[in-house]
Amino acid sequence: MKRILITGGAGFIGSHLSERLLNEGNEVICLDNFFTGSKDNIRHLISNNRFELVRHDITKEYYAEVDQIYNLACPASPPHYQYNAIKTIKTSVLGAINTLGLAKRCKATILQASTSEVYGDPMVHPQKEDYWGNVNPIGIRSCYDEGKRCAETLMMDYHRQNKVDVRIIRIFNTYGPNMDANDGRVVSNFIVQALQNHDITIYGDGTQTRSFCYVDDLVDGMIKMMNNKEGFIGPVNLGNPSERTILNFAELIIKLTNSNSKIIHKPLPKDDPTKRKPDISLAKEKLNWEPKVDIEEGLLKTIKYFEKKIGENK
Ligand code: NAD
Ligand code: UDP
Repeated sequence: MKRILITGGAGFIGSHLSERLLNEGNEVICLDNFFTGSKDNIRHLISNNRFELVRHDITKEYYAEVDQIYNLACPASPPHYQYNAIKTIKTSVLGAINTLGLAKRCKATILQASTSEVYGDPMVHPQKEDYWGNVNPIGIRSCYDEGKRCAETLMMDYHRQNKVDVRIIRIFNTYGPNMDANDGRVVSNFIVQALQNHDITIYGDGTQTRSFCYVDDLVDGMIKMMNNKEGFIGPVNLGNPSERTILNFAELIIKLTNSNSKIIHKPLPKDDPTKRKPDISLAKEKLNWEPKVDIEEGLLKTIKYFEKKIGENK
């Protein structure tokens, strides 16, 4: 049994990770300031005596005795991370410094939830870990992209300078139950719009691409990365390489929800990446990991979750 801290543990990915690590017999400290996370995501875990919920903001120091740290605290949807851009970059940078300090003192292993956004609007396709990216340092996405890039830098500097045992994963678009219906990301937006027969809002012409990974697959990869004993620290891409256009994705959601929704187009936000697809050969080689859940299977589970949520809120 390990004592494991998950920052951002009440968020979408953090709640799945908390549940999985508890099921594997560990103690979990779930730390969250509830900016985008919700008690609803972890309510079913609260009665477990190996689960502890802490309301805390990771831009402030946090003290505990732990064996492992998953650093997930950071809003992930563009509307949420742009809502208070300065707070977003503080969360990534100060959050990394505070969790790395904790890892150093406890001799804990720390895994940083980085992102495909470190590649920006990529000039290399699919994206491999040795690509340094094409990021606008002064745009509206920079608070997130540059904050995450700086967090990677801090991980590597604490590793080289202080011998902290770090892991860096670059997560590509992930979806599943516990996404916030209002967080503005494409999967939740399209499903909620389709279930309510509202217009489906495609930003731009819909030719931009993304590659969607089901959350259970991602959590498998995260745990494999944390526990690998081969000295492999990453960065490693974790995502599903099955790439599709946003227009094709909207059509798939309409089909799976049997919806009468119409597709409408809205302006494309600035710096929206034109394409994104992970090269996962490094994850396959080093972690023996690849996603297993087919897009339709994953989306049907996610649609079921949102149907229930919308029903509860009526
Ligand atoms: P989310 O918004 O659901 O979860 C983030 C959690 O962090 C929330 O519970 C939020 O309340 C918490 N948080 C935010 N600021 C905090 C602070 N200052 N102190 C403490 N807690 C704070 O998003 P998610 O999709 O679950 O993403 C989790 C992590 O994975 C994020 O770091 C995100 O950047 C990364 N990631 C996610 C994706 C994806 O597709 N979901 C892709 C790439 C990277
Ligand atoms: N998008 C869209 N309609 C929406 C929400 C998003 O067309 O209602 C597009 C967005 O412009 C981007 C893609 O879908 O090209 C993925 O957006 P998301 O916010 O989910 O994540 P990103 O990968 O851009 O961080």
